[in-house]
Parts: sequence; structure tokens; C-alpha cells
Amino acid sequence: MFHRSLHGFIEVVCGSMFSGKTEELVRRVKRAQFGRLKVQVFKPKIDNRYSDDHVQSHDANRVQSIPVDHAKEILELVDDNTRVVGIDEAQFFDDGIIDVCNKLAYRGIRVIVAGLDMDFRGQPFGPMPKLLAIAESVTKLSAICVVCGSPASRSQRMVGGEGLVAVGANEMYEARCRFCHEPNPITLAQLSTGLSSSTQPNTGSTIPADYV
Ligand SMILES: [Zn+2]
Repeated sequence: MFHRSLHGFIEVVCGSMFSGKTEELVRRVKRAQFGRLKVQVFKPKIDNRYSDDHVQSHDANRVQSIPVDHAKEILELVDDNTRVVGIDEAQFFDDGIIDVCNKLAYRGIRVIVAGLDMDFRGQPFGPMPKLLAIAESVTKLSAICVVCGSPASRSQRMVGGEGLVAVGANEMYEARCRFCHEPNPITLAQLSTGLSSSTQPNTGSTIPADYV
């Protein structure tokens, strides 16, 4: 049967900020390139923190990438001879990214998706939960909690404000574990009145009321 000759599948690399997701995406992409496979990498246009046409991890490892406004543009931009498609910062795409990934996989393409699985409140982020569900392979990376040194799964926003993640402002975030994570960071207004963020290991007080 025709489909038996195809090897399309979806891999998701997720985790908090500073967990090395993009670094892992770049590593997998480079390995495919060493194997002389044609690779194309896409990212949402919102993410222009380093360079407009590259995906770059915090350690400056980078590969060329194509910024797109909407997920469906990816289908039009993938070349016939492309064997591997990388998608970075997938949490910022619309839900159309799920259909795009499925279609690419059915075309026989290996799809490598990297993204934040949770927003700074610790809630599932955008299309990521559905991408995790349909993927053949999921790699969940952790960072190190800057408060207690445990493996960190959350992205702590240090100052409150609008939006789920302020792209390009990594200094506004810290990696935190479940227990040191504060889902409701103090606001700039609170800062100006002299309140400061706690950096002591959590004593249980920040566990959301629903879970106590
Ligand atoms: Zn911690």
C-alpha cells in the first residue's frame, strides 16, 4: 500500500522557558541536515526576538527559519522535496497548526514541533495540548527552578501585565518548579507601592485554591 512507503510523523518538544526546547529542535534539524535531508523551519512572526529569519536558542545555536503569520501558510510554503519540517514557538500559532501538522505527516514528512506547554499561569498554552495528543513522540524538557534547584516545569513571570508571554523579554521570566511557581505575579502598580516578589521556597501558599 502507498502509505507504507511513507514515514511521516509528529514529534513534539515541550517544556518551560529555559528548558532547551529550541536547542533540541535545532539539534534535531541539524542531524537531519547532516543526513542530507531537505529541512524547512517555520516560526510565528510574533517571535522576532533574535533575528527575523532564524530560529535561535539562548546559546546562539541557530538554523534558518521562515516567519509566517498564520499556520496554514506553512502548507503553501513547504517544498515538494522537503522531508523534515521544524516548527518553533508553536504555542503562538492558531489551532490551524494541528491540521497543518497532520497534513504534513500524512504527506510523509517528519514534523518536529517545539513550544511552551504552559503559559506563565501554569495553564495549557494555545494549541499545544492538542499537538501533544496527536504526536507520535513527546519530549518534555525541564529547566532548573531558580528558587529551590528542583526540576522546573513552569515559566514564572516576574512582573504582572497583559498577555500570556511577552516575547523578547526573557529577563521577565524565571524557571520555577510547581511549588515555587506563583501564577499571579505582582503587577507594576504593586511594585511601585513597595511590594516585592517572594523568592523564598514555597511553603504551600501559592498552590491555587482549587487544588488545596
Ligand atoms: Zn522550586
